[in-house]
Amino acid sequence: MQDASLFLSKLAQKYKLDLLGTVRLQESGFKKEIIDWVRQASFGQMTWYLNNLSRRLDPRQNLWGKARSAIVAGVFYRPAQIPAQLKSDPSRGLIAAYAWYDDYHKWFKKRLTSFIREFSALYKGDFQYRVYVDTGPLLEKELASQAGLGFIGKNTTFINQIKGSYFFLGEIIVDVDLPQLRWQKEEELPSNLPAPTCGLCRRCLDACPTGALTSPYKLDARLCISYLTIEHRGSVPENLRPLMKNWIFGCDICQIVCPWNKKVKSWSDLPVRTEMVAPALLDLVDLSEDDFRNYFRNSPVLRTGYSGFMRNVMIALGNWGEKRAALAVKNFLDHPDKIIRDHARWAWQQIKNK
Ligand code: SF4
Ligand code: SF4
Repeated sequence: MQDASLFLSKLAQKYKLDLLGTVRLQESGFKKEIIDWVRQASFGQMTWYLNNLSRRLDPRQNLWGKARSAIVAGVFYRPAQIPAQLKSDPSRGLIAAYAWYDDYHKWFKKRLTSFIREFSALYKGDFQYRVYVDTGPLLEKELASQAGLGFIGKNTTFINQIKGSYFFLGEIIVDVDLPQLRWQKEEELPSNLPAPTCGLCRRCLDACPTGALTSPYKLDARLCISYLTIEHRGSVPENLRPLMKNWIFGCDICQIVCPWNKKVKSWSDLPVRTEMVAPALLDLVDLSEDDFRNYFRNSPVLRTGYSGFMRNVMIALGNWGEKRAALAVKNFLDHPDKIIRDHARWAWQQIKNK
């Protein structure tokens, strides 16, 4: 594996990665915290988290127990700021920034697969590998911090000290020992990086509308707007609906308020799909199920399905609460989908109460 570091960093540039690091695999340092989190059922309906839990806690169990190292890659996705009047307009639906782009699971995995194939060819393919982009039982944020690329903040996101927390992360697990590498796409890396820590800050905990960050580094997914709008199926608990305001897919609040992001002056050059940036709720209610699939083609938003998405839109309309919202909600009061219908009735009542 001579010159591996050099080849890896060259390939990182070729494949448009913003962060790249290697790490020798070891058992998770958060084993106890994760087991507690699981015992408290804080994963909500994400029961897939329990699959291969022991492999998640010890990545060496990958590749039939032969996994030795990981290459961790990050792509920076922080978008340019949207005008404040759009952001604060309750007649528009807010979508988390990661979903302003084509679904990263697909293009990022392709990119990493080409990356490792080329690397493997250079080294005559004498190792096994497996590529993950949110697709397997891996603690990707911990791996990224072990690779020296950043740290995990109190909001539970991965934070890089230069570029903040808006990163897509992907991993390649290999069955050989790789030399240690930490590479970042920057003209010049400061020789003294700021300390990887939140210090005394607790802005994310104070800003979270639902109290989902129950204590530093601890997220109760069942309360989190990201979970509720994306992963949760069925009815959203009524007490949480008003707190969701107009977030219709994901939530970025605990990243927006983070000083590590506020100080970043650059943004990603990935192409933003402008129709994802605060779409008007009154336009979204006109989408049929087919329109929904077309509008969100190749977007992570498809994950909610039509029913989950319209449920979220009904909640946002109820929270907007104006007469125009009432007129839109009215058409859904007898919708054949029970979830959409129930949330439309809730929204109707909210607007009436106002
Ligand atoms: S994503 Fe939103 S709801 Fe979830 S923890 Fe962050 S601020 Fe709270
Ligand atoms: S807002 Fe403050 S406490 Fe929260 S992740 Fe950022 S630096 Fe850490």
